[in-house]
Amino acid sequence: PSVEVKTALVSVFDKAGLEDLGKFLASKGVHILSTGGTAAKLRDLGCTVQDVADYTGSPEILDGRVKTLHPKVHGGLLAARGNAGHEAEMEKHSIRKIDLVVVNLYPFQEAVAKGGDFATCIENIDIGGPAMIRASAKNNAAVTILTSPGQYGKFMQEVSDNAGCTTFAFRKNMAAAAYALTSSYDSAVSAWMAGEAARLRNFRDERSKDVTEPPAKKTITFDLQMPLKYGCNPHQLPAGLCAVAGGKLPFEVVNGTPGYINLLDAINAWQLVHELAQATGLPAAASFKHVSPAGAAIGLPLSDEEKIVYEVKDKELTDVAAAYVRARNADPMCSFGDFVAISHEVDVATAMILKIEVSDGIIAPSFRPEALETLKAKKGGKFIVLKADAGFKYSDLEYRMVGGVGFMQKRNDAIFDASKLSEVVTSSKTIPDKAQKDLILASIAIKYTQSNSVGYSKNGMMVGVGAGQQSRVDCVKLAGRKVATWWLRFHPKVKGLPFKDGVKRQDRVNARVRYIEGDMEEAERGEWLKNFDAPPEPLSAEEKSSFLKGLDDVAISSDAFFPFRDSIDHATRLGVKFVAQPGGSVADKEACAFCLDALKNVTTPLQVIDACNTYGMTMAFTQLRLFHH
Ligand code: 5GP
Repeated sequence: PSVEVKTALVSVFDKAGLEDLGKFLASKGVHILSTGGTAAKLRDLGCTVQDVADYTGSPEILDGRVKTLHPKVHGGLLAARGNAGHEAEMEKHSIRKIDLVVVNLYPFQEAVAKGGDFATCIENIDIGGPAMIRASAKNNAAVTILTSPGQYGKFMQEVSDNAGCTTFAFRKNMAAAAYALTSSYDSAVSAWMAGEAARLRNFRDERSKDVTEPPAKKTITFDLQMPLKYGCNPHQLPAGLCAVAGGKLPFEVVNGTPGYINLLDAINAWQLVHELAQATGLPAAASFKHVSPAGAAIGLPLSDEEKIVYEVKDKELTDVAAAYVRARNADPMCSFGDFVAISHEVDVATAMILKIEVSDGIIAPSFRPEALETLKAKKGGKFIVLKADAGFKYSDLEYRMVGGVGFMQKRNDAIFDASKLSEVVTSSKTIPDKAQKDLILASIAIKYTQSNSVGYSKNGMMVGVGAGQQSRVDCVKLAGRKVATWWLRFHPKVKGLPFKDGVKRQDRVNARVRYIEGDMEEAERGEWLKNFDAPPEPLSAEEKSSFLKGLDDVAISSDAFFPFRDSIDHATRLGVKFVAQPGGSVADKEACAFCLDALKNVTTPLQVIDACNTYGMTMAFTQLRLFHH
């Protein structure tokens, strides 16, 4: 139903656009109620207004903390029109029906951005404004709520087009924008308050350590602990590994000569497996290439089929060995020449698996003597073996230099465990134990993956890692392609490829990938065919897509929020059922054309949640961003 605008309440911090609006309301004979500063401004502009204090009979008190928080205001906003009981009560308490509310809020975000002190920021938290906005938005059957000067023009048009009234559709749109505003406003307050709490904690921690100097003023010196052959590239000399003066390295070299990138891999991979084993209580392994995991896994037993597909049918598989087999088999093409990390002692079974894989080195806390001998003999004695210090106390601060500029940051010591999965935002709420482990695994893996990153996991192993893409959906697609390739290795036609005797292990890996991809030119196909006793029948697009439909219960974790639903739309094709991501995106823009202005700060990605609900996925907001560079 259309509602005629007879009474308006105007209480705005940002007085922009008031002149036109005030004149318009006056021309329509609207009775205007207003608060201190806004009333003064409207009077200056020549409008007749009644002070809210005069209307309620209660003065503004407590330095403006209480202005409009009064039953005569909130009664006028919330009363259901046409409800006999409500109408009678309004009559009894002399409450006016308020048809239009124009409110914008104390500029809390600006106060924070300007570096305001605690008391200033607190004073800039608007209380009465959000209360009126939410009350009016709830009662949108009768009340129009305007929360931004950008909406005044549309409002005036609406009232002019509808003989002094607003339509229900218009009021609903404004209400949606209003809730978007209060939700983003409260999120900003919450984020700031959490930061203040953390600052207080750090301050106390620092004080208890009796730190006399703030870190910014410290002079940091480093000791060269290990000269390296060269840096990232052979022309980058000299190169070396340093520790903060007086400190030591978190590992010792047992065999081989590690290079610059080997060590970046080793240090990242070790932290990954150490954390993963602590979070899951199971041995963990990672297979690193270029400072991102190609795979990571926990030591869950392998099925007979997995043993065949991963070519370890005849091997002894302890849980430590199973962890590495799983880590290596997320993407065995990428894992060629990997750097391996194992959370537990490396046993003979694991060493025997490593013996047959092409790999550069390993980091682990200890090695069985026979296992160590096997590893030392690899690569003509050059296989790198690092013994990790499992009890190493990491420095709280990390330093690096880029382009002659030093950077400092607190180490990312956030623990990712089941508690990070408690805020489930989808209609489906259940994350079974198995899926919980997969989400923890994927989240810890991407914590050590170059950003942007997204990782898929299933059965305790990463099955696709998308690293270092500038767009999130590209991570989802890149990793998704790996997931599809991994799954299609279980297709009977792939398992049955008639390899000739003598084809090398890694050549079989690569040939299977090319078979699955299927996009070979004639010359390449000719070479590829040399791997087989007989030409394999192609794997058709239909066969691939129908086999992929059997993939289910996949988990996905993202190092930052999904900004659009496209990632979820893509992930569903790879059997994703469980999602972990920090949350906090501006993702619902298309929902309401009128809301654009107010939605620019929205923090709840309704669209993404809706997409998950459509596909029956369960999604947790972890509130923990995991960028890694
Ligand atoms: P004015 O400039 O009119 O004095 O104040 C307008 C501002 O006061 C608006 O931003 C509005 O949201 C805010 N406001 C209105 N009522 C209350 C209240 O009862 N308490 C607080 N803290 N703010 C209010």
